[in-house]
Amino acid sequence: SLYRKAHYQGSAYTLSQLPPDKGMEVAFAGRSNVGKSSAINTITGIGGLARTSKTPGRTQMINFFQLDARRYLVDLPGYGYAKVPEAVKQQWQQTLSAYLEQRRALCGIVLVVDIRRLYQPFDLQMLAWCRSRELPVRILLTKSDKLKRGAANQALQKATAHLQEVLPTARVQLFSAVNRMGVEAIQAQLGGWFGL
Ligand code: GDP
Repeated sequence: SLYRKAHYQGSAYTLSQLPPDKGMEVAFAGRSNVGKSSAINTITGIGGLARTSKTPGRTQMINFFQLDARRYLVDLPGYGYAKVPEAVKQQWQQTLSAYLEQRRALCGIVLVVDIRRLYQPFDLQMLAWCRSRELPVRILLTKSDKLKRGAANQALQKATAHLQEVLPTARVQLFSAVNRMGVEAIQAQLGGWFGL
């Protein structure tokens, strides 16, 4: 599979530390603790892959995982929740927005959102950046296992309706790292973005 040889490649704290802007990359974004690492691990089938990004000091970096010679997954920092000084947050925001605006290898964004909270300010900011560059976005409503089926579908409808006002081209789906709901759907999306 595409993920068989996935491995941590490196981290960037500033734009100048990014690896060369070539090949294709799909970036994962989400607020701290939303379940982004679990999503990356579940989608790739590699248990410890995103643990690298949780290494102290790397949580606020842009972490790169190489899939094959031309394809990468990128784990973006989720600054929305972290207890850090405002000035540091602003610095991350600048780096993140510049990455999203400039990076040519970037071919899609996976935004991981807690199904019980839906869009928070961080998520809306991400969607606004993606809209300005017309980046394809897939939203994972994660921790879907926490809701009964009816409530999960209601949340999906609400999340979809809200997007009509924010970024109508984005797609939303249910996801769970616990019961693997939606794994095939997001894998198919990644395959599409990667031209497979
Ligand atoms: P990150 O900070 O966004 O990378 O979040 P993690 O992947 O470390 O997950 C944060 C917490 O949420 C952990 O306790 C996970 O076990 C839990 N979690 C992550 N995904 C799911 C899920 O799909 N369902 C449930 N019930 N818990 C989850």
